[in-house]
Amino acid sequence: MRTPALHWQIAIGMLAGGLLGVAFNFWGGDGVAELWGGRFQQLGGLFLRMLKMVAVPLVVTSLASGVLGLGGAAHLGRMFSRTLLYYLVTSMLAILTGLVAVALIRPGLGGGPRQVVAADGVGGGGLGEVLFEQIENLIPANPLAAFIEPNFLSIIAFTIAFSVFALHAGGDVARRVRTAADTGFAVMMAMTHAIIRLAPLGVFFLVAATTATQGTDVFVSLSAYMLTVAIALAFHACVTLPAIVRMLARRSPWRFAQAMSPALLTAFSSASSNGTLPLTMECVEHRAGIRNRVGSFVLPLGATVNMDGTALYEAVAVLFIAQMHFGRELPLAQQAVVCLTALLASVGSAGIPHAGLVMMAIILQAVGLPAESQGIILAVDRVLDMARTSVNVWSDACGAAVIDALEGPDAPEAEAT
Ligand code: ASP
Repeated sequence: MRTPALHWQIAIGMLAGGLLGVAFNFWGGDGVAELWGGRFQQLGGLFLRMLKMVAVPLVVTSLASGVLGLGGAAHLGRMFSRTLLYYLVTSMLAILTGLVAVALIRPGLGGGPRQVVAADGVGGGGLGEVLFEQIENLIPANPLAAFIEPNFLSIIAFTIAFSVFALHAGGDVARRVRTAADTGFAVMMAMTHAIIRLAPLGVFFLVAATTATQGTDVFVSLSAYMLTVAIALAFHACVTLPAIVRMLARRSPWRFAQAMSPALLTAFSSASSNGTLPLTMECVEHRAGIRNRVGSFVLPLGATVNMDGTALYEAVAVLFIAQMHFGRELPLAQQAVVCLTALLASVGSAGIPHAGLVMMAIILQAVGLPAESQGIILAVDRVLDMARTSVNVWSDACGAAVIDALEGPDAPEAEAT
């Protein structure tokens, strides 16, 4: 008998865990449900520990390999800065879409159960103070301590700086560092893939724990949360990005989407931008007619650092968790921190399934939420991962179309060579 695909396994795990938890909740009586809920939480916690275990090395090698992959980027300066600008603008637009969606729908304030009531935990310093703290984090006084803690903002900043200066050093140094980064990344990807196979079991226990102790109410809140993510993603993919393609690339967004559909569907079912990359390049070049020198530059970099869907999802998820946790919306200063850190988290996420979930630690940490509070959204992550990965790939493809148009006819190539 063929084993069902991973996302089906996860769905089954989720359902089974939910049913088990509900059974304990209904028939177990207070003490028994609490006891077993705690045990399930511990078992599911093992899966969360594995995710935490790979987080730091995965981020470091993925980011370094992406930046170092630029190779002799000197003569690609202009394309590089345009590409980065495109990544930055679209990711910020995606995050803002998420913020607006959460503000309108308020998915975590719909009467569902609170995880913890600790209303004093938010507030504190003003925007300036809070942002300055993040800037300080970008300059780790002791990088080793940042890796051990781990402080993800510091880790990302240091890794980018390290890779950029390795490129500057050039020659043998750059080559060796790149080989090391690529090799490490390959191993970390393999390890993460292996851990993700355990997701059905992890999800089973975590959902069972949640439903055993909190009842089915939680799914009411989760459905509002899922709807918020879905609506915001749909808006970004169907309104914002097509408008950019129409205005800057002067293409029909619909026809471009049709050309990209094999890659978009593969992204959806694999939940991996990296896995989809060869197909994305093929569609961009052969079905949409974008030049190879643009596609081969914009797409691999995009698969690593440009993740609009992930950025949007991170922002919505953390704001949702905060609403559940504190029982009210985060103050504006903290929402600004969420924007900034969601951007960095999306840049730091590897293009593999559930990477965004791992990276969310950055944002949770920045707004003072415990890492464990993430458990509540884990159950529905896979399906949201599929959706956000398609948006990630779609944004990379739109970026290639935009940069290709901005490069103009083949003149820059003659200049460059
Ligand atoms: N799965 C996503 C991707 O590969 C990353 C994420 O988890 O958000 O693009």
